[in-house]
Amino acid sequence: MAGISRRNFVKLLGTGGAMSALGLAGCETVPKSKVSPKVVVLGGGFGGATCAKFLRIYDPSINVTLIEQNSSFVTCPGSNWVLGGLRKMEDLNQNYNTLRTKHGINIVHERVTSIDPVKRNVTTSSGKTIEYDKLVMSPGIGFRWNAIEGYDEAATEIIPHAWKAGAQTILLQKQLKAMPDGGTVIICPPGMPFRCPPGPPERVSMIAHYLKQEKPRSKILILDAKEGFSKQDLFMDAWNELYPGMIEWVPGSKGGLVKRVDPKTRTVYTDEGQTAHKGDVINIIPPQRAGDIAITSGLVDKSGWCPVSQHTFESTIAPNVYVIGDSSAAGALPKSGHIANNIAKMTAASIASHYRGIQLPLPSIVNTCYSLVGPEYGISIAAVYRLDEKGELVGIKGAGGLSPRSAPSLQRMQEARYAGGWYTAITADSFG
Ligand SMILES: Cc1cc2nc3c(=O)[nH]c(=O)nc-3n(C[C@H](O)[C@H](O)[C@H](O)COP(=O)(O)OP(=O)(O)OC[C@H]3O[C@@H](n4cnc5c(N)ncnc54)[C@H](O)[C@@H]3O)c2cc1C
Repeated sequence: MAGISRRNFVKLLGTGGAMSALGLAGCETVPKSKVSPKVVVLGGGFGGATCAKFLRIYDPSINVTLIEQNSSFVTCPGSNWVLGGLRKMEDLNQNYNTLRTKHGINIVHERVTSIDPVKRNVTTSSGKTIEYDKLVMSPGIGFRWNAIEGYDEAATEIIPHAWKAGAQTILLQKQLKAMPDGGTVIICPPGMPFRCPPGPPERVSMIAHYLKQEKPRSKILILDAKEGFSKQDLFMDAWNELYPGMIEWVPGSKGGLVKRVDPKTRTVYTDEGQTAHKGDVINIIPPQRAGDIAITSGLVDKSGWCPVSQHTFESTIAPNVYVIGDSSAAGALPKSGHIANNIAKMTAASIASHYRGIQLPLPSIVNTCYSLVGPEYGISIAAVYRLDEKGELVGIKGAGGLSPRSAPSLQRMQEARYAGGWYTAITADSFG
């Protein structure tokens, strides 16, 4: 490892924000290799981009290649704000220029089609084979098509999920603009676990904000597979205050569980398919699983997510393959961009520590999630996670918390500003 002393390396781990200094005292170093290790990172979203960047920060002698199928990244965070008219789609675009030029990462814009964990290489859509010493995968989520009867990939052209930001977000926005005043929007969130648990109620809020301005006689019906949702009291208080009478929430056990969908007639069916709900706009957020390449590479267990060591994030199925971000099954950690960013730094530290022969410190992982309920009304949740004695990441009682239920409007306004600040900070930290 050229250029960085052991002491500075340890300091860098601390400034990466994912590490505590515990566990370092007295640890031994092992001889360093003269050959630069090759790390391939698959997926240039929050997990992959951050991991590639911090690998180079922690150890500039590591040769890092980031393989991402798209030439730029559209963030899901902020995409609900687009539906509320508070941001434009182009505000959500992140590019890979700084990762390439400032951090010296090789960027390959191709799709990975297969992984060979024995020969340690990946094959891309053009037939190229790229070798690795270690592979980090952060391919995001895939959808469980037809878990709701009739909701397959083709159906998303009429009933968007908009749970991967981009064309689907634009389609949902177009449909909202085209619907009549007095119409009904139906939103169907899935059961746990899924990407961004506070995302559906934030989406409801942002659509309600849009409708209040443009089509105030309209209604939103939430047909929820679950019995409750993230920041529920805070959201419901805010809905009563900002959008009285506009939003109805139906939990799974009271008829909210969607069983079947008919895209042609824009109808969803609940109660074992007996009750029909027709919408002018329908947004189904389907049940999810790890990204496709994790499935085809055999890195998932029967849960559909990738089991990993919750200390190093190395796959428990394939050695030298690390799975981070939404695809990983990591104890109590929610699936969020903030968590993907945090565990990406952990994983970069884990790999750099390995090559430096330093024992990996124990992680503290933080999640912060802001939601906008209106342009001047923000709420948040924060939590801190640590490994327990069984090696599982669990929430630390008393660390973090929710916005207070009764708070002055000034505090809600400040949290709305912090939401924007969070977005600027996390995208700079991951892509800058
Ligand atoms: C509406 C919405 C709002 C959200 N708001 C927030 C928020 O406010 N705060 C927050 O913390 N989180 C939020 N999230 C969650 C956040 O977007 C995800 O948790 C985060 O993106 C996960 O990061 P990831 O790296 O696992 O996946 P992603 O960021 O999705 O990145 C995966 C990348 O892998 C690439 N890829 C996949 N397969 C291949 C392949 N075979 N070859 C090459 N490339 C491949 C994809 O193109 C993609 O760029 C939100 C999500 C949604 C849907």
